[in-house]
Amino acid sequence: MQHRFDYNTKVQLKEKRLSAGLVSDRFPRIHSMIIHISHYDKRMVEPLFMERTINVFPASYAYFDIACHTRECEGSFNLLPVISGMVNARRESAKGKLECPGNSTVPAGHACITYEISIEYKDPK
Ligand SMILES: [Zn+2]
Repeated sequence: MQHRFDYNTKVQLKEKRLSAGLVSDRFPRIHSMIIHISHYDKRMVEPLFMERTINVFPASYAYFDIACHTRECEGSFNLLPVISGMVNARRESAKGKLECPGNSTVPAGHACITYEISIEYKDPK
């Protein structure tokens, strides 16, 4: 059953990505973007700490719902509103923090990410 669940989750993720469209369609002014994420789960016995960097290009999917890494949690961190706000204001960098909304087994705020986003625009200032 576990396998079937994973498969469905993957299919759903692919559909979500496809329906999000491409960065070039949604944010035509973006030349490139770098998203640096640090993920913490302070509730775990051994605190979970992960860092990763995502490079985004016009041909990438405009899907910025970052899955929570804690097992048994299906929550996610949605960076799309942050990125939309940055593009609207033509901001080149932003930093912030988001908390995981959790689910029925894991409380909200059990994990958080801090993010640093930098965007390079196609059009000169
Ligand atoms: Zn979570």
